[in-house]
Amino acid sequence: MTSRLRVPAEELDVACEVDLAVVGGGSAGVAAAVVGAQLGLRVALVEEMPFLGGMSTGGAVGTYCGFHRQERDGSIVSNVGGFPLEVAETLKARGHAYGPIAFRETAALPYVPWGVKLLLEERVAAESKLRLWLHAKATHAVVEDGEIRGIAVATRAGRLALRARVYVDATGDAELSRLAGCATHVGDAIQYPSTMFTMQHVDLPVALGALGDLPRLLADHFESEGLPRKGGNLFPSGRPGEVLVALSRIALDGRPVDGSDAEELTWAELEGRRQVVRLADFLRRRVPGFADAFVADSAFRLGVRETHKVVGEYSLAENDVLGCRHFEDGIGRATWPIEKHVAGGETLWRFLEPGTWYTIPYRCLVPRGVRNLLVAGRCLSADPMAFASVRVIGPCMLEGQAVAVAARHLRDHDVPARDADIDRIRHDLAHLGVPL
Ligand SMILES: Cc1cc2nc3c(=O)[nH]c(=O)nc-3n(C[C@H](O)[C@H](O)[C@H](O)COP(=O)(O)OP(=O)(O)OC[C@H]3O[C@@H](n4cnc5c(N)ncnc54)[C@H](O)[C@@H]3O)c2cc1C
Repeated sequence: MTSRLRVPAEELDVACEVDLAVVGGGSAGVAAAVVGAQLGLRVALVEEMPFLGGMSTGGAVGTYCGFHRQERDGSIVSNVGGFPLEVAETLKARGHAYGPIAFRETAALPYVPWGVKLLLEERVAAESKLRLWLHAKATHAVVEDGEIRGIAVATRAGRLALRARVYVDATGDAELSRLAGCATHVGDAIQYPSTMFTMQHVDLPVALGALGDLPRLLADHFESEGLPRKGGNLFPSGRPGEVLVALSRIALDGRPVDGSDAEELTWAELEGRRQVVRLADFLRRRVPGFADAFVADSAFRLGVRETHKVVGEYSLAENDVLGCRHFEDGIGRATWPIEKHVAGGETLWRFLEPGTWYTIPYRCLVPRGVRNLLVAGRCLSADPMAFASVRVIGPCMLEGQAVAVAARHLRDHDVPARDADIDRIRHDLAHLGVPL
């Protein structure tokens, strides 16, 4: 018989009561918290890491995707409005982002993770109605009569409780939804995670000149060098001699590591750094301009693309994405292709026609079973192929912004998340400058 340990129940002081509690301070969670506070809500934001930005900073993903699209004539236009647009513009003005640059039939905005970290902190600190806890992990949700009544949060000073009218799960892994007993699914074939890293002292003019040959180099040496990916990218970060390397992929016995499993995550963090050493060595030997380059650092944490997603009132489907469906409850435009990191070192791409987009339905942000819970970011309700498009940072921030607007309605009209007045929410989003 498995030996068991009984953990005593405890009563916690309620540290604060707010209108909106956001769990997870990644791209989606920060958007939800900042926009919520701007709309006059009292907000609590809880983040288990010592910094904000989630994968965008801790995972050092390095390009904002979904913020722009290419038109049929090849011109690049903005696809977002409100908070994500303001973040992108500010980063560019500070020299912490450049572009947007064309990427096949779409476009992306490379950024410096350090710049994002600082900007998100500033935006949070500027909101007097927003209280931030870092090093704080939500560990319990108390649910009664289909509503979350409070959450327990583990901090360095022990556990505390928070109460809110509305809760947002922006944990990436649907952790709050699972704590609240909502159904989630992982799917049969989640995407592979990766460890990003930066190299410095790269001879950039030489390296940029050789970039066109990278796909051939990777393909030629995939077997002989035991490379994790057949394709990948090297992005100049915008700083002298610095390149962000997107070439890693972490597999366990040939299958993707589950970033929501404690043992697999631990193994993958170590394997990721072992891969960084091997990949840097490969780049130094094989890619012009890298001979004298060194690893500045690996990303602070493993880049986890996909784990649990909620079962929502609607599940975004592959046909919705490729059919460029415009929903009546759309809360923002998404346009990034389906980009699925699959087995065999391959990446599967399905592009939308230039000049087109689909919209993200509000119902994908409403998990079934709990009335005062919304989700934003990569734990939304979507099938695996649709997820491979909507998971990028532009949509994540749009969703965070939208759930903040929705939260104000839920508070003001005392209705469950699924009965929110979507026309009103869309009206308010348009007022924030969001193209719908
Ligand atoms: C290797 C890699 C490369 C990528 N490349 C790109 C790219 O180039 N461009 C692009 O746009 N997108 C890219 N993506 C996708 C994109 O980065 C993510 O989908 C997006 O950042 C997710 O944002 P999020 O806010 O939903 O979740 P996350 O960024 O994962 O944030 C979730 C946050 O919640 C916190 N958290 C989790 N559980 C708790 C808890 N219980 N209590 C408190 N806090 C908690 C986490 O610490 C984290 O900070 C990439 C992803 C990966 C992994």
